[in-house]
Amino acid sequence: MLLLLRWETCSSLCCTDKRLNVAYSNGTSCFRAAVFSSLSKLSLLGLVMGLLLGACTPSAPRESDKPRVVSTSTILTDLTQEVGGDEIELTGILPPGSDPHVYEPVPADTVAFERADLILYNGFNLEPGLIRMMNAAGLRAEKLAVGEVVTPLQLEKEGVRVPDPHVWGDVRNAIAMTRAIQAGLTRVAPEDQAEFARNADALIRELESLHAWIQQQIATIPPAQRRLITTHDAFQYFANAYGLEVMGTLIGISTEEQPSAQRVQKLVEAVKSARVPAIFAETTINPRLITTVAEEAGVKLAPKPLYSDSIGAPGSNAATYVDMMVANTTTIVEALGGQVTPFVPPR
Ligand SMILES: [Zn+2]
Repeated sequence: MLLLLRWETCSSLCCTDKRLNVAYSNGTSCFRAAVFSSLSKLSLLGLVMGLLLGACTPSAPRESDKPRVVSTSTILTDLTQEVGGDEIELTGILPPGSDPHVYEPVPADTVAFERADLILYNGFNLEPGLIRMMNAAGLRAEKLAVGEVVTPLQLEKEGVRVPDPHVWGDVRNAIAMTRAIQAGLTRVAPEDQAEFARNADALIRELESLHAWIQQQIATIPPAQRRLITTHDAFQYFANAYGLEVMGTLIGISTEEQPSAQRVQKLVEAVKSARVPAIFAETTINPRLITTVAEEAGVKLAPKPLYSDSIGAPGSNAATYVDMMVANTTTIVEALGGQVTPFVPPR
């Protein structure tokens, strides 16, 4: 176990996002899954890790007096980094590409939560494992449900109406979330209030122009084809805000569900009757079933998957919230027969 904990410390450094200067609290996107699924091979791993640890050093004790901020989803981590800049010590829990609905906390997450001055989470039960852990732990940090500052749309889950957590799909909600993050950071570091305000204002200018750009791009899709069929129900806010209709999804609000054969067949029929030119896979979900649906319905799967619940890895075309929204809009517009004009952020 000592070996595992040390490995996580090491991999958190190895997984630091250089562009954002964010440390992720664990190395899921690197080796964590492999480590946990291979406990029986611990002795072999010990050998390998012994070699690798030479290249990594454990986290140094805090030397700065910057507030420690922890964020759960990659979208929040990106927005928080933009607002907090160099004035905060930010730890993102979820690594890019991971699925918040099914994420199981690891020991390094508990440590990050215990040390935090401020915890920013999405809420509306997007990240149930982390919310459970956070509420059970009796933490000293202020906890702020950033996504819950917006009025939610409702979705049905197992016959019950629940708030839809995928609020960032409407860029106006991301603007409200940015203001909430700014307010949260200002509470823990009032001396940096002016810096946070400057950063938030600059980000919001970019988000306002992103919102207008998405509207213009979607408007180029022929009206009868402004129909969205995706793997899980993560695009309701996007569709509502920008004039698309969600015609069906393979699974519902959370990716924990396994679709029944009946649901798959129902979606095949929905795809056929919607007469859409393409349907969409998502980066955080195995594309096997949605590929089957596309084949059976005789439509193409869009050449690129959508970024639903996570931004892309550093170096990808979706490594920030803004880039993710641009990438998704481009994929959707091109696959549904519209014409994309490149997004030019304001200076
Ligand atoms: Zn989701």
